Amino acid sequence: MGKIVSFSNQKGGVGKTTTCVNMAAYLALSNRKVLLVDLDPQGNATTGLGFQKSKLKKSVYNVLIEEENVADNVLDTELENLKLLPANIDLAGAEVELVYKKGREKVLKNALDKVKNSYDYILIDCPPSLGLLTINALAGADGVIIPIQSEYYALEGLSQLMNSISLVRSHLNREIQVYGIVLTMYDGRSKASKDISAEIRKYFSKVLYEVVIPRNIRLSEAPSHGKPVVLHDPKCMGAKAYGALTEEFLKKTEEKGE
Ligand code: ATP
Ligand code: MG
Repeated sequence: MGKIVSFSNQKGGVGKTTTCVNMAAYLALSNRKVLLVDLDPQGNATTGLGFQKSKLKKSVYNVLIEEENVADNVLDTELENLKLLPANIDLAGAEVELVYKKGREKVLKNALDKVKNSYDYILIDCPPSLGLLTINALAGADGVIIPIQSEYYALEGLSQLMNSISLVRSHLNREIQVYGIVLTMYDGRSKASKDISAEIRKYFSKVLYEVVIPRNIRLSEAPSHGKPVVLHDPKCMGAKAYGALTEEFLKKTEEKGE
């Protein structure tokens, strides 16, 4: 049975999509069967894997609103073990339409449950909000990975996110865990990066991944080539860091049998 992992932080631009796409790629290369669900109307994970958003015939919208099967809306990617359930701006409408649906918080969960057996990991790239799309991701997830940018104010909003996860645990999904916090865009020379890392280590040391993702230009240019960094420049610092993070993730989740 596959694990569903939600990449969530209502703060924008913190590295959710970069982390989700690149961990998905490394998991696929580690012989895990992976489905990436793009749950953001911005469709950045979709573009980042080489698809043109305006030309999508299949998408997560069809699953959430038209009640189509996930399996009928999944696309192949350059990596054999990595499939994509893509998104585009139509999804912005879905967030509104979902409000009127019965069991609106669990529409995604119910759809993913039908394909959970076909994958080892289903990774969900959330939008930067705590709206109904993110609640759907959390309601279906076994665990959450929270990317945090190594900048001042990074911790603002973190308590609100933790609070939302607790609410989801009480009302929608008793099993949900925080798998880990990952520090992104880390700059070893900057005081802000060091301060934030020390602060998070102080309060959240149990869930902070040891691997830190450095600020790396290759990570930001890979999406413009429609590729995860491992297919763009596998030797760069950013690629090595995501490779190591994926190993740490696998060790923690699979050893503990979580
Ligand atoms: P949103 O909230 O809009 O969905 P996000 O949390 O998904 O954003 P990303 O899109 O992954 O964040 O990253 C924001 C920007 O920072 C992107 O342009 C991305 O290429 C860049 N970026 C992410 N991580 C790094 C990094 N480690 N080094 C350099 N640039 C990065
Ligand atoms: Mg994103």
